[in-house]
This record gives sequence, structure tokens and C-alpha cells, in this order.
Amino acid sequence: MRSFIKCKVCGFIGVEGTIHQVCPACGALLSSFENYDYEIGDKRLSNLKMQLHPMLVHFPQSISILSFLVIIIAFLMKRDTNSEWILITKIISMILPFTVIAAMASGVFDAKARLKNTNGKIRKQKIQIGTFFLVVSGISAILINYEVFTAFGIISILLLGLLSVLCSILLGRKGASLSCVLIRN
Ligand SMILES: [Zn+2]
Repeated sequence: MRSFIKCKVCGFIGVEGTIHQVCPACGALLSSFENYDYEIGDKRLSNLKMQLHPMLVHFPQSISILSFLVIIIAFLMKRDTNSEWILITKIISMILPFTVIAAMASGVFDAKARLKNTNGKIRKQKIQIGTFFLVVSGISAILINYEVFTAFGIISILLLGLLSVLCSILLGRKGASLSCVLIRN
């Protein structure tokens, strides 16, 4: 067990001795901190400190955006000159579902360390959106790798790409609202 201090200005909670001079959240002086009675086990704290989920979510986030851009470039180019771009879209579209799985697995692990109640509404929504993201990116990978480039196929791939980007934005926003619960309470 270790002792915690809380910023009276913004409510940020930190481990005593790790905050020097100013609050890392709002910039208030160290003198505006008070002792905060909060018990957390060392194991739970070390799980939290790994920040696995906040790190791993950047992969599906950036890859979904990259994938969408590369697909647009590939489709805008002429049929016989875009073979390299098609190859890149194939590779990226195959990687995306695996990064979604890694982010979801770390999210479940992180939620166990971070949240008192792991059956919360936002957590459920995040799992639903994450599952939808996985299905969307999986279908997209299949269509791209089997070169379903009919007019209907291309529209589907573009729509699925857009949905992937929307899923990652939505998940990021939901996640941010969860971390605020921890900081402000
Ligand atoms: Zn503060």
C-alpha cells in the first residue's frame, strides 16, 4: 500500500512523492495538494501503471485511418498502375483485425485493474463497439484480399473503412470518459 495525494484544484490523484512542484493535470502548485485516503493494492497499481490499453489502442486507431487513406489512393489510381497500392491495402487490412483483438484483450485486462464495477454501461458499450469494429475490419480484409473490386465491392470496402474509423473515434471518446471517472472521484 502507498499513500496518495489529491489536487484540491482539479481533483487529480497521484502517488505521494511522484509529483514534484506542480500538478501534472492542471499546473497548480504542490501546496494545493491534500492527503487522499485511497487504498490500492500493489498488484493492481502495477497493472494500472503498465498502461497497456491506452498504448495498444493507438494501433487500431492509426491503422484504421491509414488503411482508409491507402484504399482511397488505390481506388483512385488506374487499374494497371495500382498493383503496389493494392498490395499495401491487402497487408494493412490483414493487420487491422489483429490490432483490434489486442486492444480489446488489453481493455478487458485494464478494466479489471482500473474500474471498481466492471459491468458498467460504458464498458459494455465499448465491448459492443469493439466487437462491431472487429467484424467490420474482418469483412473488409476478406473483400480486399479476395479482390472483390466490383462497383458494389468498392463501395462496401469504402463504407467499411469509414465505419472502422468511426468505431475507433467512438471507442476513444468512451475510453476518455472512463479515465475521467478515476481522476475526478
Ligand atoms: Zn490539479
